[in-house]
Amino acid sequence: MKDQNGLKIGTLTIHGGQSPDPASGAVMTPIYQTSTYAQEALGVNKGYEYSRTGNPTRTALEKSIAALEGGSAGLAFGSGLAAVDAVMKLLKPGDEIISTNDLYGGSYRQFTKVYEDFGLVFHFTGMSDPSNVEKRVNEKTKMIWVETPTNPMMNIIDIAAMADVAHRAGAILVVDNTFATPILQRPLDLGADIVLHSATKYLGGHSDVVLGLLTMKNDELAKRLKFIQNSVGAICGPMDAFLTLRGIKTLDVRMERHCKNGVRIAEFLKDHPKVDRVYWPGFEDHPGHEIAKKQMENYGGMISFVVKDGTLESASKVISNLNVFTLAESLGGVESLAGHPASMTHASIPPAERAKTGIVDGLIRLSVGIEDADDLIADLDRALKQI
Ligand SMILES: *Cc1c(COP(=O)(O)O)cnc(C)c1O
Repeated sequence: MKDQNGLKIGTLTIHGGQSPDPASGAVMTPIYQTSTYAQEALGVNKGYEYSRTGNPTRTALEKSIAALEGGSAGLAFGSGLAAVDAVMKLLKPGDEIISTNDLYGGSYRQFTKVYEDFGLVFHFTGMSDPSNVEKRVNEKTKMIWVETPTNPMMNIIDIAAMADVAHRAGAILVVDNTFATPILQRPLDLGADIVLHSATKYLGGHSDVVLGLLTMKNDELAKRLKFIQNSVGAICGPMDAFLTLRGIKTLDVRMERHCKNGVRIAEFLKDHPKVDRVYWPGFEDHPGHEIAKKQMENYGGMISFVVKDGTLESASKVISNLNVFTLAESLGGVESLAGHPASMTHASIPPAERAKTGIVDGLIRLSVGIEDADDLIADLDRALKQI
């Protein structure tokens, strides 16, 4: 598409950064399964020399995420954690990072078990109250790391307020936007410097690819991260770039259904006698609801809840009696998944640290898919009645 100015996000999901293939007119971006490119003469090429540096299928995906998030450049990696790794490589020994304490377990593991050994210093704190972050800022603070809604407690962090704290400290703000997607939340518009996605989740949307994305507005940052991507080499292959592009085409319609199913299931769980607490930012009494309303378009299909007696035994009984929901790691696909954070996604966080953030043994996290909500509700009801 020649002119993308002023197009809405539901159009950009389909056309953002993509034009019919110049070589053939193919409407879908071809899978350029090649490592290298013929050069016409010394120093003369069509913009591609070697596929670690650039590949046309990957380029289309990189332009797509930039279009969706309002960035000036995008970068695609072999996984979400490879994208996290590239961001960490912006830093130097002694630099300090303030991160939310309620974040994806794999990011926590990389920070504490890999990058602390390289001399990076992490401070983990609750970020629902910006003054907690302010207190930890010093002259070594170089980065603030935010996930919102948080995983799995569904806390809401005020992105604009964090951007303000970061920029006053001369630091950059990174937002992991995996849970919300650009359909529900656009952190660059709110002042973030880098947006990260595990495209493995909602962007890919079909649980068939592992991939990570970054996008940013600032040209210096884009240049440095592009240099890191090429120097370190944690790129995605063209087939995975294609699958993610194909997933993104339906992102807007999928999110609409995830949200519609999400509100019905959250309300169903809230009133259920076998459920103690439900964490979902769409509830008016959720402590982050007002901020969520301000910075998000809708509340999504990620819901966590604690079974009535809060025990591992009851949580396990509910999970094993689910039929439509599948017990699995991951989230954001068309199919509904149920997970047990304490033993699965967040097992790498020490129990004491977990308990501080509310990740108790009775907590179940749902990724509500796009099936018929009646079937999902009946499934949960049947399973909950077993306890
Ligand atoms: C899954 C996930 C990641 C890591 O992505 P991978 O593609 O699994 O490497 C990072 N952040 C969040 C919020 C995630 O859910």
